[in-house]
Amino acid sequence: IVEMKSMNKFYGAHHVLKDIDLAVTRGEVMVILGASGSGKSTLIRCVNGLEMYQNGSLFVDGYKMPVEADRKLGGERELATIRKGVGMVFQQFGLFPHKIVLDNITIAPMRVRKKSREEAEATAMKLLDRVGLRAHAQKYPGQLSGGQQQRVAIARSLAMEPHLMLFDEPTSALDPEMVGEVLDVMRELAAEGMTMMVVTHEMGFAREVADRVVYIDQGSIIEVGKPDEFFDNPKSDRARSFLARVL
Ligand code: ATP
Ligand code: MG
Repeated sequence: IVEMKSMNKFYGAHHVLKDIDLAVTRGEVMVILGASGSGKSTLIRCVNGLEMYQNGSLFVDGYKMPVEADRKLGGERELATIRKGVGMVFQQFGLFPHKIVLDNITIAPMRVRKKSREEAEATAMKLLDRVGLRAHAQKYPGQLSGGQQQRVAIARSLAMEPHLMLFDEPTSALDPEMVGEVLDVMRELAAEGMTMMVVTHEMGFAREVADRVVYIDQGSIIEVGKPDEFFDNPKSDRARSFLARVL
């Protein structure tokens, strides 16, 4: 569902992603690990076109994500098509503060997917049920805890019926006691077969839920493998010292 071949990204002269070769198959959960500044966010932001890459190729859902030069020439149509199928959840929940939870979830399906209000609201209530927040549908985001807001943000993404979900440190802004409830929702999503790319510092989640772990350092993929292999037997010195720091 995602395929990167020799993908490179620069910020000006700064080479941030270096010859990335990586494929994510349907239903797979891939966890991306690496030190701060290694390029994890940039990598997943390329997948939904929030960042542009300069050369190589990136296919998402069968469409080629246009490289920067082509986007300037009007590659925006592919981009819009790809984006509809890719959900993203950030560290900061990004809910609309002046809209109630229900409206936060229905707005995009109504505007972008042209769903009727009835249909969008019925779907939203099902999703709220799934993340355990049905009773909070009429509240404003500010009336919810961080963990609840992040679960609303996940429900909001799911309302667009994505084929792929991207998570960028979804629990990093949460108080420790709320991390578990968000990871539980993600774990369920994975069990239901959602394809996911997850940047996280939650090593327990990575080990337990990931099908594969990718370790990035300074914009290069250093290791890709099954979590048990990576955590128990990292092949590179760089991965070993990373693990020594985080575990
Ligand atoms: P963290 O764990 O801190 O979130 P990360 O692995 O997600 O780090 P990125 O945010 O992808 O790292 O950043 C990769 C590199 O690109 C860093 O060196 C960063 O300074 C640089 N960078 C990120 N965004 C920009 C930008 N908008 N302009 C210029 N450089 C950037
Ligand atoms: Mg980041």
